[in-house]
Amino acid sequence: MKTIAVNVSVLNKNDEIAAKNKKSLAERGIRMINLLGTPGSGKTTLLEQVLTDPRIDRRRVAVIEGDLYTAKDAERMEQIGIRTIQLNTEGACHLEADMIEHALSELDLEGVETVVIDNIGNLVCTAEFMLGEHLRVGVASVTEGNDKPLKYPLLFQTADVVLINKIDLQPYTNFDVERFTQDVHSLNANAAVYTCSAFRGEGLEPVIELFLKK
Ligand code: ZN
Repeated sequence: MKTIAVNVSVLNKNDEIAAKNKKSLAERGIRMINLLGTPGSGKTTLLEQVLTDPRIDRRRVAVIEGDLYTAKDAERMEQIGIRTIQLNTEGACHLEADMIEHALSELDLEGVETVVIDNIGNLVCTAEFMLGEHLRVGVASVTEGNDKPLKYPLLFQTADVVLINKIDLQPYTNFDVERFTQDVHSLNANAAVYTCSAFRGEGLEPVIELFLKK
């Protein structure tokens, strides 16, 4: 019986397009951030809070919203004056580099310095697909429990920054920040780990810095 390794070739092709996205953005002086996390981890609220910080020039930011069917998150971005494009995957559970290539070609990138991909809420296959990002940010929340890094290692292995969101709710959970941080570092010694509350607008300084960094 003949077996064909479809996944590998699909991923190889994806990585080629991702490398192209990354290079063409870098040539234009644009950095792309891929924001990953579970549904309800607070990625869009985090973006809203960070991008309305008075130090951030919202004309220099564009957002690609990934969603299965709706445009709810894109509408939230447009309400705060961010150039946004919605990618509806019609049920597909992750974004691939060719979708980002397409979105970038449709976005007006004049004056833009940072593109953010608000990825589909999912920790499994979203992490397998490099999209051409220069920086990967993983968002977890204390209400999801402590076991995320060891259960979904790929996201944490590949993230440059890991945010533990909803830290204001920690007293109502058994979440252990130290253990979570140790687990992340056992997978990826270089990941920067921060706690924050996007809802309360607290602890967001390291994320704001990512946008201010030239
Ligand atoms: Zn998927």
